[in-house]
Amino acid sequence: MCRHLGWLGRPRTLSSLVLEPPSSLLVQSWAPRRQRYGTVNADGWGVGFYAPDRAEPARWRSARPLWGDPSFASVAPVLRSGCVVAAVRSATVGMPLEESAAAPFTDGRALLSHNGRVDRAVLPPVRDAESTVDSALLAALVFDRGLDALAATVAEVGAADPAARLNLLAADGTRLLATTWGDTLSVLVTDQGTALASEPWDDDPAWRDVPDHHLVEVTPDGLTLTPIGELPA
Ligand code: GLN
Repeated sequence: MCRHLGWLGRPRTLSSLVLEPPSSLLVQSWAPRRQRYGTVNADGWGVGFYAPDRAEPARWRSARPLWGDPSFASVAPVLRSGCVVAAVRSATVGMPLEESAAAPFTDGRALLSHNGRVDRAVLPPVRDAESTVDSALLAALVFDRGLDALAATVAEVGAADPAARLNLLAADGTRLLATTWGDTLSVLVTDQGTALASEPWDDDPAWRDVPDHHLVEVTPDGLTLTPIGELPA
């Protein structure tokens, strides 16, 4: 099970999100605190972020562990964004080990990361998946249906594969959307912005756990939490 995080708020450096906190994604790549499946996240990593005046997100992904990318550590303190999705990967058995299998995935406009696994056989056929990894097929399906259908897509796929774990985290430059479906997710609301993360990156008591089977939406106006079963299908 991978670990992911999202940020929506005042622009901040990628290093302040991904590398510097005491339990950052960097630390979570070898010592996650709440991971239920897998022990390390050393099968790749990625970060996608939005820059002013450009609809398409920028991405940096790698098949290496995050701790093995000193060039990223060098530039991350000067890369700033107000909308970020980042992830470290623990590959599911049988899935490809390649840069294109690392989240976040994109269709050129949205970003999406997946903590979990799903039986690829239950997914409807999709075009333009970035990799054959289950998460890339799921991302392509979500991009096809649109982010507004994120929760409905999770409910549908979860019904088709009851063993699936479907914690998704998506962004489009103006909002974050996340689902809990079988794994942990925490939220931190500050006066600078809102963070969503598979697990808290520090011991700030303001972190809140999101209950399972929920949709979280973060916009500049605030945060809403909705049980997925109560959303219109
Ligand atoms: N199934 C996905 C993969 O193999 C995600 C794995 C995970 O969440 N650990 O990359």
